[in-house]
Amino acid sequence: MVNCKTALVCGAGGFIGSHLVKRLKKEGYWVRGVDLKYPEFTPTEADDFIMGDLRDPLICRASLDDYFDEVYQLAADMGGAGFVFTGENDADIMHNSALINLNMLEASYKRNVGKIFYSSSACMYPEHNQMDPDNPQCSEDSAYPAYPDSEYGWEKLFSERLFFAFARNYKMHVRVARFHNIFGPEGTWEGGREKAPAAFCRKVAMTEPGGEIEMWGDGKQTRSFLYIDECVEGVLRLMKSDFIGPVNIGSEEMVTINQLAEMVMKIAGKQQTIKHIPGPLGVRDRNSDNHLIQEKLGWKPSRPLEEGLKKTYRWIAEQVNKNNDSSLK
Ligand code: NAD
Repeated sequence: MVNCKTALVCGAGGFIGSHLVKRLKKEGYWVRGVDLKYPEFTPTEADDFIMGDLRDPLICRASLDDYFDEVYQLAADMGGAGFVFTGENDADIMHNSALINLNMLEASYKRNVGKIFYSSSACMYPEHNQMDPDNPQCSEDSAYPAYPDSEYGWEKLFSERLFFAFARNYKMHVRVARFHNIFGPEGTWEGGREKAPAAFCRKVAMTEPGGEIEMWGDGKQTRSFLYIDECVEGVLRLMKSDFIGPVNIGSEEMVTINQLAEMVMKIAGKQQTIKHIPGPLGVRDRNSDNHLIQEKLGWKPSRPLEEGLKKTYRWIAEQVNKNNDSSLK
């Protein structure tokens, strides 16, 4: 095939997948992407791109028609709180993502791929450990007894176990990370699947100074957010290491959702009023616990939240302006 390392990125049309493709290309890999769609905002940098549905085992096999050094399995039916926590998409979330994982793993096993990465989520941590704003528990060993607060989290937990079972029984080289709220430019910013940072950047960009922006809940719930480039760096480090995981890839800079919105307003230079309304929320409090990743990979985020938010706000404000310009034509 080719003379350099090869990688297959499943979900290469999505937010994290498209950034990962760019980074792998910079590292000198030959990359094939596969997804239901091309990246929305910039052309893919993959050397080859298969448009296909990974729920279909034949597509999984066709994506692996040759040996690959590395497979990154990021494809999933997912979105922000408005998609994952309403309960309306539970059947699709569980069924679609489980099928993708089952089929991709089997195809990867049969093709004897070098290593396979799976992106799990902090949503698999038990709800009862995430009720106290001063002390949310998200260390990797706090996963059991399991009680995720969403079907999305249960599917992630099942699939983590599936990947580890293949590692145990079939000696596959598996790596599993639990992502904590990844954000950045070229992510979904409208349409219902966007996450909190993108949603606030959009709302602030679209609202005049002195206007009002809506927020689900009282805004006192806490989260941490990790900038996309840091996430990709963590993934590559995990793939290069001997540590199989599961390991958190997140930030420990915990903020309330009110603080997040205020940070965005400060970046935009606009003071607005927050109107709290009922909406889907997820767990009360969550923060990444980075002890394990620091110990095993010597990794922690290198830049503060505000820096990533500035880049994200700038990009979303541009998208809002583009939309406004085209609606005037
Ligand atoms: P995303 O929705 O932007 O990307 C997922 C991609 O998977 C999409 O492009 C989608 O089209 C593709 N896909 C879905 N069903 C498919 C199918 N049947 N066949 C082929 N492709 C299919 O999401 P993302 O934010 O880039 O997340 C990537 C991975 O990381 C997901 O597994 C997600 O669960 C996990 N994760 C993300 C976050 C985050 O904050 N973004 C947090 C925790 C975990």
